[in-house]
Amino acid sequence: MRFTSSSRKLLLGVSSAALLGACNTLPMADHDGKNMTTAQLNEASVMQAVSDTATSNSLLQTWTGPYDGVPPWDKVNVSDFPGAFQAVMKKVGTQVNAVRDNPATATFENFTLPMELAGNSADELFSIWGVHSSNLSNEEVRKIQGEWLPKISAFFNELTLDPKLLEKTKAVYDGRNAAGLNAQQLRLVERNYEQLVRNGALLEGTEKEQLIALNTELAKAFNEFSNKVLADEETFIHLTDEADLAGLPNSFIASIKEAAQGKGKEGWALKNTRSVMQPFLQNSTRRDLRETVYNAYINRGDNGDKNDTNTTIAKILKLRADRAKILGFKTHAHYRMADTMAKEPQAAMELMMKVWPAAVGRVKEEVADMQEVADAEGAGITIAPWDYRHYSEKVRKVKYDLDEAEIKPYFKLDNMVDAMFDAAGKLYGMQFSDNTGSVPVFDPEVRTFEVTRGDKVIGLFYLDNFARKGKRSGAWMTTYRSQHDLGGKNRYVLASNNNNFVKGGEGQPTLVSLDDATTLFHEFGHALHYLNYDITYPGLSGTPRDFVEYPSQVNENWLLTRYILDTYAKHAETGKPMPQELVDKINKSKTFNKGFSTVEYLSSAIVDMMLHNREEPVTDPDAFERETLTKIGMPKEIVMRHRLPQFNHLFSSDAYSAGYYSYLWSETMDADTWAAFEETGDVWDKDTAERFRSVILATGNETDRKDAYRNFRGRDPEVKYILKKRGFPVPSESADASVVNKSNTGK
Ligand SMILES: [Zn+2]
Repeated sequence: MRFTSSSRKLLLGVSSAALLGACNTLPMADHDGKNMTTAQLNEASVMQAVSDTATSNSLLQTWTGPYDGVPPWDKVNVSDFPGAFQAVMKKVGTQVNAVRDNPATATFENFTLPMELAGNSADELFSIWGVHSSNLSNEEVRKIQGEWLPKISAFFNELTLDPKLLEKTKAVYDGRNAAGLNAQQLRLVERNYEQLVRNGALLEGTEKEQLIALNTELAKAFNEFSNKVLADEETFIHLTDEADLAGLPNSFIASIKEAAQGKGKEGWALKNTRSVMQPFLQNSTRRDLRETVYNAYINRGDNGDKNDTNTTIAKILKLRADRAKILGFKTHAHYRMADTMAKEPQAAMELMMKVWPAAVGRVKEEVADMQEVADAEGAGITIAPWDYRHYSEKVRKVKYDLDEAEIKPYFKLDNMVDAMFDAAGKLYGMQFSDNTGSVPVFDPEVRTFEVTRGDKVIGLFYLDNFARKGKRSGAWMTTYRSQHDLGGKNRYVLASNNNNFVKGGEGQPTLVSLDDATTLFHEFGHALHYLNYDITYPGLSGTPRDFVEYPSQVNENWLLTRYILDTYAKHAETGKPMPQELVDKINKSKTFNKGFSTVEYLSSAIVDMMLHNREEPVTDPDAFERETLTKIGMPKEIVMRHRLPQFNHLFSSDAYSAGYYSYLWSETMDADTWAAFEETGDVWDKDTAERFRSVILATGNETDRKDAYRNFRGRDPEVKYILKKRGFPVPSESADASVVNKSNTGK
């Protein structure tokens, strides 16, 4: 996922939690929902007086240097942030109030336009802050974050809900059809108004009070939910006998020994988290312990004790249903999906139910393969959920025989960076020239590149590839400045990619795994999206939740193409390009275990949607989960990736509620888009690339993304390509009409 530090998002009432979104590099291996709650905002505390340091505060100086100014990383003092936050809020408040208090009748020119630009100064400050909280975090940064995020959020929320601003927004909206606006202006005016309405700005009197009370109660319940799940994850299973370690790799044993020492215990401690559960289940040959570890993991939040989350979930569902009603939506799902590409719960359900039977069918085959291995071993067992990871690993070794050590020497990081730049050149005519040293950076390892297309300078690309202390895990992209041409000048884009690769030893090249190389291309896909923006209004910049991962996923496809491999994936010692035989093995292994990962993910996404797409809130989440899974035919060998009692994506904030389907939605477009390139007979086809760039990438959110897709492809995405990509059988052509968006045609 990409994240932006745009204060405009704050202006529109989007929680600053969005600033901390982690990138989901593998579509189905979603990030831990917990991340989304670390910034969960408590009630606003009273703003503290901070002495006005505006004149000496480097964070408040206008950016200078090339590209109309770049972030002054060389001058930042962390202690300057509180003063700068204070000053910027004051400045934005003054700007907004000046627009608000203009006595003239509100028009697009005297209201919508200046509101679009109010807050630019906050953008710059939050860009620098974003890097400090994500790449350069430390005790001091975290302290400032804890203290100031709630204040900033409260400030922007209050600003958003100002009745006078609403009045003017509504006035422009009401007069929109007679105002001679063009399509983008009309879209901007309508979206601004609709968003305010969705946030409840139209409500008055008791209803307004009710909404505030519901939101406050929800925030408390979210907090309660995450605390309970966290408490269960901090419990551990204590191993004391060497025999309990059978099958475990030494590095894993060392880490669980350390965990035990941290708790002042002898022996080994297995914490109740995914990062412990997965390797344990995969490797342990002790079936009894696999069962114990697995059951502890899937029952987090569901043990009938003080950490049981079922009543918290029921409370959240009731609050959400009440809120949806007050805001005029049929269900919470309708409310959350109003500004997505799918728009209607039914559209998301249709897509999921198209993929579901194929995935379930594949699980049956996977289980049969594993049973065969178990029988050959004379294990005398029937494959159970705690056996899946263990036996699928054995099947993998037999059937795919893919050795990561065999692949790695081909992926020299420097070469792969050149490869992704070259691909962007071949596809979109873009050039990236290294100009490291010519602008300030926040760490000596960060490289910078001037970006041009044709003769035109687009902006600057910052590349921060390596893991280090204070940098959060995962990979993400962000813009320090994004493009729009409002205010008389087209803005240079300042985009960044942030990865966590491990640097090669002294004098050694950095080699990366296939996963890392894929991540590199994925994040660069996000950067290419924003570098190619050619829009007018910043308010039409952000794309919907179920669209945002699509351009980045598409870009992954070029990594394993013959041209890139022949030119850049050369063996670190022999210098020979990767042989096709190995590429074939990699491609074949990509469909391995896809039944499992798809069913694990989709069951969670389906239960999410069914839970939130109903008017009567569910009161017994446990029973609902059980009954829903029975209804859809959940294979007995698999449990949901996130069972409801621990589903942080849904219950530690609103973020992914009625939205867990988004990964599948984006990936469906990705697979269908790659097919468009393949159909031309040349995956570097210039015409297709130019259409993708100009219709999908360049337009930001200036047109409905569904229409943009149709313009690009001539039709809606078809499901058969994602089925193919996952190695599932494709139903006959007639049965596979395009499903994405189908329900919007009135069905
Ligand atoms: Zn992403």
